[in-house]
Amino acid sequence: MAPADKAEGKRPDEFTLIEEVFAPLAADAPGAFALKDDAALYRAGEGCETVLTVDAIVAGVHFLPDDPPESVARKLLRVNLSDLAAKGAIPKGYLLVTAWADETSLGWIRRFAGALLEDQRRYGLALWGGDTVRTTGPLTLSLTAIGEVSAGAMLPRGGALEGDDVYVSGALGDAALGLELLRGKLTGLGPEDADYLIRRYREPDPRSTLGPRLCGIASAALDVSDGLLADLGHICDASGKGARIERDRLPLSDAAKRAIERDSSLFSFVAGGGDDYEILFTAPAAMAGQVKAAATESAVAVTKIGCISGAGEGVTLVDGSGRSIPLKQLGYRHF
Ligand SMILES: [Mg+2]
Repeated sequence: MAPADKAEGKRPDEFTLIEEVFAPLAADAPGAFALKDDAALYRAGEGCETVLTVDAIVAGVHFLPDDPPESVARKLLRVNLSDLAAKGAIPKGYLLVTAWADETSLGWIRRFAGALLEDQRRYGLALWGGDTVRTTGPLTLSLTAIGEVSAGAMLPRGGALEGDDVYVSGALGDAALGLELLRGKLTGLGPEDADYLIRRYREPDPRSTLGPRLCGIASAALDVSDGLLADLGHICDASGKGARIERDRLPLSDAAKRAIERDSSLFSFVAGGGDDYEILFTAPAAMAGQVKAAATESAVAVTKIGCISGAGEGVTLVDGSGRSIPLKQLGYRHF
């Protein structure tokens, strides 16, 4: 990291940093003991199971060194909230490990913590504990999110059955196109479209209102982080099934549509790009009405994009006339 605001202050020692900057993030969690004890105390609700997920991000690898600290904070928390949502879980708390690089300033850390606090309030969870250290390498951050789901209701990867419908929330490809823009490999878009796509890359929108409503409806679910086709492959592998996806049903934002109208090869980012953080799930055809109701109640768009086929059929993408589209033709790089 090379934050421009280095002048905003030298970092204080670990204890002062925790007390001044991070303890306020634990204020709403009595079991966090204001981050002054060695561990936190937590009791899951009656009849609930605890769902845990963790992610680590490294400057220069998972985020760009000049990304604003607010975006880094939101991405770190939200990728974990996306995993909880895809499992049907309601977020409760999180643990945070920060390894500050020598050049990370106090100003950068304050902005990072401020954005975490805003997002905590938005998604209804609190900081429960963690650790803060320094590193001689790049800034490294790890967050463990803890959520709850009714016992036995967590949405698995491996529950898809032949004939189930395949659905995805929101829109696909925005984040991958946003990353291309940030890398300077995609140009000529209108400034509003460019801003929209970049924001979708930097600040995912976890589908926290939708996920828990899919418990008892979806047969399998995960969040799209590796790209639609790769992640659908994960559901198919875990379920021992194949899937058939209709290209013309894949949901696109207006910004992505305009980008693809100018250059149709960009469609490969819709099917194969990563970082969408949308929920990809399967549900029996008889559940179509319940899926629609869950989408309406959660105010998240859900689109049916295909169906689950038999074992050994793999994941196929078909065009409007039902012909299989060779994945190579998409310029899809992961296969
Ligand atoms: Mg995931």
